[in-house]
Amino acid sequence: MNPSLPHHNPPLLSLVVPCYNEREVLSEFMRQVIPVLQALPAMNYEVVFVNDGSRDDTLDRLVDIACAHDRVRVVDLSRNFGKEAAMTAGIDEALGDVVVPFDADLQDPPEVIPRLVAKWREGFDVVIARRVDRSSDTLLKRKSASLFYKFHNIISDIDLPENAGDFRLMSRDVVDALKRMTESRRFMKGLFAWVGFNTAVVEYTRQARVAGKTKFSGWRLWNFALEGVTSFSTLPLRIWTYFGFFTAFVALSYAVFVLIRTLIFGNPVPGYASIVTILLFLGGVQLVGIGVVGEYIGRIYIESKQRPVYLIQARYGVSEKVKRGGR
Ligand code: UDP
Ligand code: MG
Repeated sequence: MNPSLPHHNPPLLSLVVPCYNEREVLSEFMRQVIPVLQALPAMNYEVVFVNDGSRDDTLDRLVDIACAHDRVRVVDLSRNFGKEAAMTAGIDEALGDVVVPFDADLQDPPEVIPRLVAKWREGFDVVIARRVDRSSDTLLKRKSASLFYKFHNIISDIDLPENAGDFRLMSRDVVDALKRMTESRRFMKGLFAWVGFNTAVVEYTRQARVAGKTKFSGWRLWNFALEGVTSFSTLPLRIWTYFGFFTAFVALSYAVFVLIRTLIFGNPVPGYASIVTILLFLGGVQLVGIGVVGEYIGRIYIESKQRPVYLIQARYGVSEKVKRGGR
């Protein structure tokens, strides 16, 4: 349990905050979060906001904030790339010895941050914040999330910690390891779990959003779940082989049965219903199989283009001022 020596003295914490249409929450965010960061013992902080192509005036507000606070930076992406890409951008830009991804909507209470840092000081490289009480999320979301985690952990090689979101603390070593993963479709929860390292867990209660509404519709969550499964498991592809063997075996047994029956009783040509049923069933199963293969091929296709995960169109805040020699 030896954390690498911090590059900064005192060590620097980077809070990475992806923002998509979060105009309503930003002032409350600053009001609640900055005092917590300022109070961190023997530690400096920076806040890296990533504007993920917001359609409202989030960017203007962020730039105002960055002008007023010299520890706040803003990275403006060229369009909406999605939370995973926005978070990747923020983590890439962050300079800290420890990096903490954090939602803009204050669903994760900032008071947890000092507890994460305390664990890091004990020597852990990763400190996961686990939600013990998700009653602020809808029942459907909780149930589907828990089903997803169970399913995912059964079929994939890595174990996603249940009830842990993106909110966690990572040391510089972990962040550097994350950066070595070059895939362009990024399922961050999986990547976080994949890198491993000494991990501690801190528990907290998830709050309701302070303002605005969730950016994840049911359809988007479904696709997110597909991404998670296909990113870390090939079982959905391989299962068809076994299903094929099984079907062939059943078909063969049935063929023997039909042959014998015909030899003994002759052939009165019934069986329309069974033929149609079997035909439709197998047709459906084959289409599902092709669909699954298609999911993976689509992902291979996108991955093979090696496009960047995100594009930055502007940066505002400290580093910009330093570059111009101003303060
Ligand atoms: N977010 C983002 N890009 C998107 C969607 C969301 O950067 O395309 C950000 C959003 O601004 C927030 C965080 O991701 O800071 C979590 O989003 P949200 O609260 O809507 O998700 P939920 O908590 O409902 O899962
Ligand atoms: Mg939220």
